[in-house]
Amino acid sequence: MQFSKIAKRLTTTLTIATAAILGMSAQTTYRLPGQHTQQQGQLLARQGNLTHSIAVPINIDYLNFSTEDEPEIDIYTEGWNSGRVNCYNLANTPQQAVIDVSRYHMPHPGPISSPYGYRPRFRRMHKGVDISLHIGDTVRAAFDGRVRITNYEARGYGNYVVVRHTNDLETVYGHLSKFLVKNGDFVKAGTPIALGGNTGRSTGPHLHFETRYMGYAINPAAIFDFPNQTTHTDTYTFNKNTYQNARNFDPQANAQYAQAYYSKRATNKAYSSSKSKSKKVASKSKKSKRSKSKKRRR
Ligand SMILES: [Zn+2]
Repeated sequence: MQFSKIAKRLTTTLTIATAAILGMSAQTTYRLPGQHTQQQGQLLARQGNLTHSIAVPINIDYLNFSTEDEPEIDIYTEGWNSGRVNCYNLANTPQQAVIDVSRYHMPHPGPISSPYGYRPRFRRMHKGVDISLHIGDTVRAAFDGRVRITNYEARGYGNYVVVRHTNDLETVYGHLSKFLVKNGDFVKAGTPIALGGNTGRSTGPHLHFETRYMGYAINPAAIFDFPNQTTHTDTYTFNKNTYQNARNFDPQANAQYAQAYYSKRATNKAYSSSKSKSKKVASKSKKSKRSKSKKRRR
């Protein structure tokens, strides 16, 4: 009897708290795109240090940076700023540019759970794609490059990494749970850079993934063919007028890929054994939740 009273009281308190949070975010998330960019910079400027970044294991990828792979130095010195996602003056961006995307790695094999584009509900642009993952999944660098930012933004990206690539693109990885790299680290396409999570403004575990060219947030589905886990072609032609368009992105194909991905994942024993420790804890808490909910029903 007492338990159900406490549970009721808790539910009421939670509902009020949720309403308060929703009310707050309703006021703060409705922004004009221009203001959003400005505020994003201000938010980034206020960030403190991350205390839970973890040590980077000595990885052969960091050591074997042969001279022919050595990036052009100007890519990493011009406009190098560790505080802002967008450090470019958009007026300097050329009208058109051909970008080499032949050396790539998918940032995570999960399907797209939310596409790039304008979100009427929030009255703002979604400048990347959301890729489905589980907390703790490995997130990998999409191209060769150097880490420009590892930072935390509570009301947006959460823990995020920005990598500047040798092909002039930049990629952004958001809502991470842990960093595996630090600012200035060189990475190759496929180097683990972080673990996936649910930090920042996020309602469930996913990777927010952006592809940018000199500040322009390109639709990642214009470069990557997510349902087929590849790139559309070896080069992507950036054009100021068409950079928001996707190329052959088929939601139906993505849905089919998602179905295959989840069923494969559910039967993947290698994955469950490597996570046995955390799974045991999770199943225990699930059991106790189940018994609690039974009690509640009674
Ligand atoms: Zn997103």
